[in-house]
Amino acid sequence: MLEIKNLHAEVDGNKILRGIDLTVRPGEVHAIMGPNGSGKSTLSYVLAGKEDYEITEGSISYNGVDWSELGADERAAAGMFLAFQYPIEIPGVATMTFLKTALNAQRKARGEDEISTPDFMKLVREKSKELKVTPDMLKRPLNVGFSGGEKKRAEILQMSLLEPTLCVLDETDSGLDIDALRIVSEGVNQLRSPERSMIVITHYQRLLDHIVPDVVHVLSKGKIVKTGGKELALELEKNGYADYVDEEAA
Ligand code: ADP
Ligand code: MG
Ligand code: MG
Repeated sequence: MLEIKNLHAEVDGNKILRGIDLTVRPGEVHAIMGPNGSGKSTLSYVLAGKEDYEITEGSISYNGVDWSELGADERAAAGMFLAFQYPIEIPGVATMTFLKTALNAQRKARGEDEISTPDFMKLVREKSKELKVTPDMLKRPLNVGFSGGEKKRAEILQMSLLEPTLCVLDETDSGLDIDALRIVSEGVNQLRSPERSMIVITHYQRLLDHIVPDVVHVLSKGKIVKTGGKELALELEKNGYADYVDEEAA
């Protein structure tokens, strides 16, 4: 279980998060919505333990362990996976090689043996098929020249190989056409399980037609200003963020 209490965080001396409280239990999917610049990506980076993101007040704990002392690798080994809003391109590294390296890094951090090449090939073939990642994509350098949809599919493939217990998806829907959105959402939905928690960050409601959240939060100026059920997303779609943003300013 993830417990965030009164979290304040800054980047390069700029205060961005201003007191976030959030509890995510196993099996729950929480959506975080909010206008551009409200701090959604910052929250995902702080959770992932990205360099330069400093917690100045409050705490994050996961399964009872204080996360402020853990580095990004240790958090990944503990089961967290962050899908970035802007996936990085790695020229010269085939997607397949990247995936194997990521999986073995996680196994190493957990004190497990490396996966054998035949076992890895079998696993990656199985999962690629489900996500419509073609063998050709697996041979190409990671994300280089991939369409928006291909990048997101490669990312969800990585996520499904690592089998995280806490998934944070930052605007996984940005730049996707409707077919790509469906494939990615199906991949994410297949990963839903009673042991796995998900935080789905999005600016738009449409992703939440496919990945139906248990809880929806509205983030504004680094704070959660409203929490509700999935119907809150529909209301935001209709009325925009103005109500909640004004409420907070008042
Ligand atoms: P969102 O993902 O909700 O669009 P971000 O978390 O990306 O919002 O950004 C929140 C605010 O923090 C914005 O005002 C943004 O300009 C600012 N910000 C983000 N990263 C930095 C940084 N490295 N240095 C200074 N300000 C930043
Ligand atoms: Mg943004
Ligand atoms: Mg963002």
